[in-house]
Amino acid sequence: MTERSWSGDARAREAVRAGTKVDFLPSGERRLTVLSGPSGVGKSTVVAEIRRAHPEVWLSVSVTTRRPRPGEVNGLHYFFVDGAEFDRLVEAGELLEWAEFAGNRYGTPRAAVLDKLAAGVPTLLEIDLEGARQVRRTMPDALLVFLAPPTWEELEKRLRGRGTEPEDVIARRLEAGRIEMAAEKEFDLTLVNTDVKDVCHRLIALMTDPLGVTTTTNREV
Ligand code: 5GP
Repeated sequence: MTERSWSGDARAREAVRAGTKVDFLPSGERRLTVLSGPSGVGKSTVVAEIRRAHPEVWLSVSVTTRRPRPGEVNGLHYFFVDGAEFDRLVEAGELLEWAEFAGNRYGTPRAAVLDKLAAGVPTLLEIDLEGARQVRRTMPDALLVFLAPPTWEELEKRLRGRGTEPEDVIARRLEAGRIEMAAEKEFDLTLVNTDVKDVCHRLIALMTDPLGVTTTTNREV
């Protein structure tokens, strides 16, 4: 178990000094938490477990141009939109961040997130690396958590085992996964997804520990 210090407040001060436009600088309020990591690592399983067991946490619902997978519900898992509507949202400044991932666009509706944070509700975004980097720039007080697979081979196995994507899509996601794995050190801490319940437990503790500056990871470094 490794102790690491979280320095969101210091980063917020730096951003203000550098003149970066900052969306929200909570002081003493619940923080925004971002969960990121390579496709196939199990982010959506973690999110599903939080949705089931922790209604006190608000999960942002992203907008995407991707087609729904079987079982995905519009408004619950994503808001499914076409390219023109996505363009409109970007132009109107309605997205807190957005990124293109494996041929589709994904974005976080800004207003809902800011409302929840202002109301003091612990808020979680499950987004890709590019999105996490944007949040780091515009909301430096956010806590960025990297979800890592136990091994690269395990990640590949999970991505193929899902059986929902054709080979070329899997190849693109693995390619993106290599880039995402290399960015782990940009995050405040890493949780290794060996056990979904353990990851959720740690994540909830991080989110609900008011301004807890010291956090723990389950990655041995
Ligand atoms: P999937 O198609 O498997 O649901 O998601 C593909 C990737 O898009 C995942 O890495 C997921 O975290 C990311 N993603 C989902 N919603 C958003 C979002 O609103 N913004 C960004 N930047 N990435 C997102």
